[in-house]
Amino acid sequence: MMPDEPATHTPRHETLIGAIRRYLATHPAAADTVEGIAGWAVGAVASVTADEVRTALTHLEARGEVARVDAGGAEVFARTAALARVPVGALRIGVDLGGSKTEIIALDGDGRELLRRREATPHNDYEAIIALVATLVTDAERTCGITPGGATIGIGTPGSLSRATGLLRGSNSVCLNGMPVKRDLEARLGRTVALANDANCFALSEATDGAGQGAAVVFGVILGTGVGGGIVVNGRVLEGRNAIGGEWGHNPLPWPRDDERPGAPCFCGQRGCIETWLSGPGMARDHHAVVPGDMSPAHEIVARAAQHDAACEATVARYEERLARSLAHVINIVDPDVIVLGGGLSNVDRWYKSVPRLWTRWIFSDSVETVLARHAHGDSSGVRGAAWLAG
Ligand SMILES: [Zn+2]
Repeated sequence: MMPDEPATHTPRHETLIGAIRRYLATHPAAADTVEGIAGWAVGAVASVTADEVRTALTHLEARGEVARVDAGGAEVFARTAALARVPVGALRIGVDLGGSKTEIIALDGDGRELLRRREATPHNDYEAIIALVATLVTDAERTCGITPGGATIGIGTPGSLSRATGLLRGSNSVCLNGMPVKRDLEARLGRTVALANDANCFALSEATDGAGQGAAVVFGVILGTGVGGGIVVNGRVLEGRNAIGGEWGHNPLPWPRDDERPGAPCFCGQRGCIETWLSGPGMARDHHAVVPGDMSPAHEIVARAAQHDAACEATVARYEERLARSLAHVINIVDPDVIVLGGGLSNVDRWYKSVPRLWTRWIFSDSVETVLARHAHGDSSGVRGAAWLAG
């Protein structure tokens, strides 16, 4: 936090404000004392003080969402018509179930973040993972002051549900593979749960209120340890007949040169997949192949290229040309309005100028209007997109 930033902007304070807003919006009496609200809020925000609650209420008062009530000396706050309009039924919970961490977020109907928590994912213990997700959801509903079972729930996770069996496959949390994750969570939570691939969640988040907002067709790409993709059409994920829509990382690098064939082996069993070229490890491997002995990771190669290291610059130039070819291939099939990049390798400024300059060579059109954009929600896109999945 910047030193001159008011204390009211801390995440803890924002969580408290969201919790109080929900509490007062749903509280049958429509009003409560500061102590009463503080007593309730201890369950929502650990060790909250009456002073913190008072500060949060003052903030809500300034926004016209609560008003002081004359109650014979006691400080009593009541919801106003503005707060009563908070769309209680529209609470959306998203869970990003990753290999190492599990994150939960609660959004209101306008996409405002009411709560966010992150826990370590239990290692190799299916029952414990399901129990953790269920506990996080129940706690989030209580914190936000809504009835248990009232929120919609979306889960984003690597891998996808097999259309044939309903079991998860292709997850790097291997204990989830072959398990009825969706069915078990629905049984535990007593309601329908939407589940999608994490790249689809990224694309949905960016299409809903991120870099692709307002665009009819958005292709979201994750360039990280792996390479993934998701397609969103008119605000809906295009899952596809086999639930692999947008899975672009395991197509071969298009228009390969002779020295790019057959390419490195990929974990999927093929060689020369786009992922083997455009993932972080892929860039590092390509660099190492040209500069034997240099085992630098991708982020160092990018940093040294920016400082005019010739070998690193050449590696980055090869990478962006391959990225342009790979995206041109997508444009020729899907022709999205916007392509949004996410993942660690999306944070390289030059891609957004160089790649659209390069891709015209392979795109089957006399003019190319496609926008290449950097993510707007960064690391939060996965969990935000999960929240947008349901409903
Ligand atoms: Zn592959």
